[in-house]
Amino acid sequence: MRFMVRKFQAKIETVLASGDMPSRRPELRSNNESNIPGLYIIGDLAGAPVIKLAMQQGFEVIEHIAAKSDAKSSDASAYDVLVIGAGAAGLNAALAAQDKGLRTIVLEKEKIANTIENFPEGKWVYAEPDSRPPKGKLWLDGARKEDLIARWDQIIRENKLDVRTEEAVTGLERQKDRAFVVKTAKGELRAKRIILATGQRGNPRRLGVPGEDREGIYHRLYSPRHYKNEDILVVGGGNSAIEAALTLCEQNRVRLCHRDSDFPLAFKDNARKLDQAVAQKKIELLLNSKVKEFRGRAALVETDCGGHQEKRTVPMDHAFVLIGAELPVKFLKSLGIRLENEWTGSLWRAAALAFATMFGLWLLGGHASAFAGIPFEHVPRAAGALLAAAGLGTLLALGFRSDRYAWLAISFLASYTVYGVKSPGAGSEFWPYRGWGYQALSLFGRPASFWYTVLYTVLITVFGIQALKRWGLDRKDKFQIWRYVSLLSFQWIFFFLIPEFLFQWAIKYQWVGERLAQDPAFAGQAWRTYGLVYAWPLFFYTFFYDPHKIWIVWGLLLTFVVIPVFVLFHGKRYCSWICGCGGLAETFGDRWRHLAPKGNASVRWEWMNLAVLIFAAAVTLAMLLRDAFLILRNPAQWGLQAYHLYADIWLVGILPVTLYPFLGGKVWCRYWCPLAKLMHLMSDLYARLGISRFRIVANDKCIGCMECSRNCQVGIDVMNHALKQEPIDNANSSCIGCGICVSVCPMDVLDFGSSPAKMPLVQIANARAV
Ligand SMILES: Cc1cc2nc3c(=O)[nH]c(=O)nc-3n(C[C@H](O)[C@H](O)[C@H](O)COP(=O)(O)OP(=O)(O)OC[C@H]3O[C@@H](n4cnc5c(N)ncnc54)[C@H](O)[C@@H]3O)c2cc1C
Ligand code: SF4
Ligand code: SF4
Repeated sequence: MRFMVRKFQAKIETVLASGDMPSRRPELRSNNESNIPGLYIIGDLAGAPVIKLAMQQGFEVIEHIAAKSDAKSSDASAYDVLVIGAGAAGLNAALAAQDKGLRTIVLEKEKIANTIENFPEGKWVYAEPDSRPPKGKLWLDGARKEDLIARWDQIIRENKLDVRTEEAVTGLERQKDRAFVVKTAKGELRAKRIILATGQRGNPRRLGVPGEDREGIYHRLYSPRHYKNEDILVVGGGNSAIEAALTLCEQNRVRLCHRDSDFPLAFKDNARKLDQAVAQKKIELLLNSKVKEFRGRAALVETDCGGHQEKRTVPMDHAFVLIGAELPVKFLKSLGIRLENEWTGSLWRAAALAFATMFGLWLLGGHASAFAGIPFEHVPRAAGALLAAAGLGTLLALGFRSDRYAWLAISFLASYTVYGVKSPGAGSEFWPYRGWGYQALSLFGRPASFWYTVLYTVLITVFGIQALKRWGLDRKDKFQIWRYVSLLSFQWIFFFLIPEFLFQWAIKYQWVGERLAQDPAFAGQAWRTYGLVYAWPLFFYTFFYDPHKIWIVWGLLLTFVVIPVFVLFHGKRYCSWICGCGGLAETFGDRWRHLAPKGNASVRWEWMNLAVLIFAAAVTLAMLLRDAFLILRNPAQWGLQAYHLYADIWLVGILPVTLYPFLGGKVWCRYWCPLAKLMHLMSDLYARLGISRFRIVANDKCIGCMECSRNCQVGIDVMNHALKQEPIDNANSSCIGCGICVSVCPMDVLDFGSSPAKMPLVQIANARAV
């Protein structure tokens, strides 16, 4: 039993961790503020992939701080802004802060621009993306690294910026007056606000094998020209490793050891040069291979030879392990900074408290009297109220102490309550709210279900305007502006005004003609107007309960003509431009989009959509044929009830909204919506036949920053497609055409179109792309 429980818990934890990116980030609020108020994180550490964007973050964070009424510290002994890390982001922030009249200091662990200082000698530093001018005082243009650093030193001198090198920050404390005390090996400093710009490069990823600390094993390449006629082993499969192997092979015997069979992250130009070097026998490739140990002047390498492992000893004078950098988790934790998608607390405690709260509500509703003969019969309602309040109160208290499972339980209780109250006759699954909850929320002569629609529309409107600003207006992105205008319009017109008001007016004022307005089979069924936009099987009720023939004709036309033609041109954009379920996810769920499940397992889970589609098709057939075949009467009824309970209530209403803050907004659309699956099957077929007009293409400028993959609500590894310049369509992904990947790409790599844009190749060595 304990084994089963542990296994179940492990499964849940795997699902909840599926939103993690391969390289995690600190949890950030708007304007790059961390979970510690007053402490901001910028640059590489906050996901800025290149120097120009790191500089931009530094500049913008100061604009935000300087605009605050309390930007300056009232305490003369405290700096207004203390910047940790003198890299591109930190220096630009400090210069901007000084310009705004803020008292500023920069603390640097080693040298100014230490990361760039550590690039190989003479390396050309690219100033991408071209389309954006650098922001702030720090100079940036394509240049040799030595020239760039000289310019930065000059700017620091001219501006008399207080930069203290060789003074690493070791600790941080927030005092009662909200000022920070920053600890370094040389003493303590006080500051009102902290900007953390320590990058990730000081923390190179390690293999973790014996002998890795020996002399001759390095985690960065500084002076390639110093090595001549030597045996060199380069470990890694990203651009840093490939570029190192290519440079070193000019004067040495180089072996490149990589754990996979190919180099999907390689820039096209690097891949071409590597092919040439291998053909000229300048580089020997050790593919599907892992270093197991470094011994003396050799490395023990294990190769996967199609199922069996072969070990061999590879001679080497030096080894360069270039497998990327890691988030300095220990350092961040020691400062009290929370990481994204961190799970804390106890799953079972949260589940027990949620159950206790629901049980209390059940007692409060007076349902215990239905169970004559069992002890609950005499429990007073007040005890139920107390239990519910205690359960919820404890969950809230735990939640505020960072128990993430407690928030999961609260989120469940909230969506369970909203949906449960809305569905009075749904059945015993809503036992805590039967009767009283529905009555309590039936306000101003309108049923609770009306107020549910109002709440839904308000959420989409408020959060939709925020998302419209975030993705559309702030970025001047017309595609996103139209997308959010479309989502808001469909919600207001088709899912609120028509079913709740316009249909009734159309009947009252006979806008639909006298005959229809007086036909009770048409006039009394406003709910059928949801079928104007919702096609089968999302709204298969269009065909049930003696519909007027207008609805049957429109339902058939919508499902079998309009949707297939739409899909041909736009793939599954219905989910991100039109649908109300997708609309809530794209607006209310937008802030959690980066938590969408990712990786191969999460793609395999998409089979659930097909199961729901098959179930919906079986129920539809049984319902339509039940009068012709009496044997189908009962199964049709049971099937419909089961579908209503499991799909329409739990899978659409309760579970996905519960999971918004934990797995992003697209759980229903991606895993359970039968219409999404139907459109996927069509779009997949069109793509395979070569007639689909929907796809995303990539040019050759990808720098592997992962922003696209991170922001995809359906967990597609967009970066992988971009690096290989492989178009994304519905034959190879479940893309819904939201275009967010196109919008967030800092290098303008992605585009909806038919052919890759012709752009010059630009190389930026990227240590993260391993
Ligand atoms: C091999 C390679 C080649 C690259 N080439 C390019 C390129 O051509 N063009 C481009 O745009 N980008 C390039 N990049 C990416 C670029 O280096 C980063 O995007 C950029 O440096 C990020 O700037 P940052 O200020 O956030 O961090 P960093 O530049 O890493 O600066 C962080 C600073 O914080 C300091 N620090 C760390 N811990 C502490 C502490 N505890 N206390 C005090 N100080 C601390 C570090 O010493 C460092 O100086 C390359 C990266 C690599 C690895
Ligand atoms: S791949 Fe891009 S367009 Fe497609 S769903 Fe993901 S973010 Fe949206
Ligand atoms: S395509 Fe993706 S990984 Fe590549 S640069 Fe653009 S956002 Fe970054």
